[in-house]
Amino acid sequence: MKNTTKHILNCTFTAVMFAIALTFMLGAFTTRVSFGADTKTIDSAVVDDSVTESLKTPSKPDINIVSMKSQVYIKWKACKNANSYEVWRKSKGKSWEKIDVTSKKKYTDKDVAKGCEYKYRIRAVNKGSKDSVKSAYSSTKSVSVSAIDPDKKMVALTFDDGPGPYTQAIVNCLKKYGMHATFFVVGSNISHYSKALKAEAASGCEIANHTWGHVYLPKQSTGGMLKQVVNTNKKIKAITGVTPKLLRPPYGATSAGVKSAIKMPQIMWSIDTLDWKTRNTAKTVASVMNNVKDGSIVLMHDIHKPTMKAALQIIPKLVSKGYQLVTVSELAEYKGVELKNGKAYSSIH
Ligand SMILES: [Zn+2]
Repeated sequence: MKNTTKHILNCTFTAVMFAIALTFMLGAFTTRVSFGADTKTIDSAVVDDSVTESLKTPSKPDINIVSMKSQVYIKWKACKNANSYEVWRKSKGKSWEKIDVTSKKKYTDKDVAKGCEYKYRIRAVNKGSKDSVKSAYSSTKSVSVSAIDPDKKMVALTFDDGPGPYTQAIVNCLKKYGMHATFFVVGSNISHYSKALKAEAASGCEIANHTWGHVYLPKQSTGGMLKQVVNTNKKIKAITGVTPKLLRPPYGATSAGVKSAIKMPQIMWSIDTLDWKTRNTAKTVASVMNNVKDGSIVLMHDIHKPTMKAALQIIPKLVSKGYQLVTVSELAEYKGVELKNGKAYSSIH
């Protein structure tokens, strides 16, 4: 009995010891496995951290649309911590698309359609060997790709002495055909017809300066000349947000004094319709259609009803003859002529 009990105790002891040993072994095994897994996770986290830490977020880029013809040129300044840049574009009715990743600080978008509008934004990227960080997007810039074909005929219709009661009808007609003209406005008329002035600007037409009081500039003092021009520019800017770039001296009257005092190009004309004198729609139409050439600048006055009626005929007639009706600034741009301050231009070829 004693032996039997001893044997049982021995067996129990052995079993307990075995169980303890087994538990320890299993425990150690489990610990080793979990330790291994932990190590692996820690290692990978260490690698990731080191990549992220070395990459600083690039500064937000500034975006500039440099120029536009049948292409869109975009440029930006180098951003701190950036080694490449993403160029994003949004076409009308579509979502943003990444169109390029470049290490340069400029991009030319040739894949654009004439007459269409696009939006662009830039994002700076700091790309490491395994990871990359990106800046915030630049501001968004919109651009309308010009519908003008530099190889086709162009004419600049110009309307003086407005805005007036017939201006809106001319603007509507230009809009209908997707064409532009230049309005040389008289400052003192603006308050009465500010809606027409806004319509001119909204339609893509050019608004230019024809002095405040339609004065004969060569007879003015230098201070008087400047007042006439500067006050008109300020008024136009206040209403349309755009400062005029061009001056047409009333009566086409200029002088060395006017040219040196007023720092704007002076725009004369190559076709004088004499619409103000004849007040005759048919004669005004004939004057334009019989004399128009590529690069012509046509003088008319939008304050006369017969001229408005003539314009409604002239615009479609010129379009059907293959003319592109452009502003004076567009004419100069597409003919590659840089308009200089104080210089007078009668046509631009
Ligand atoms: Zn005038």
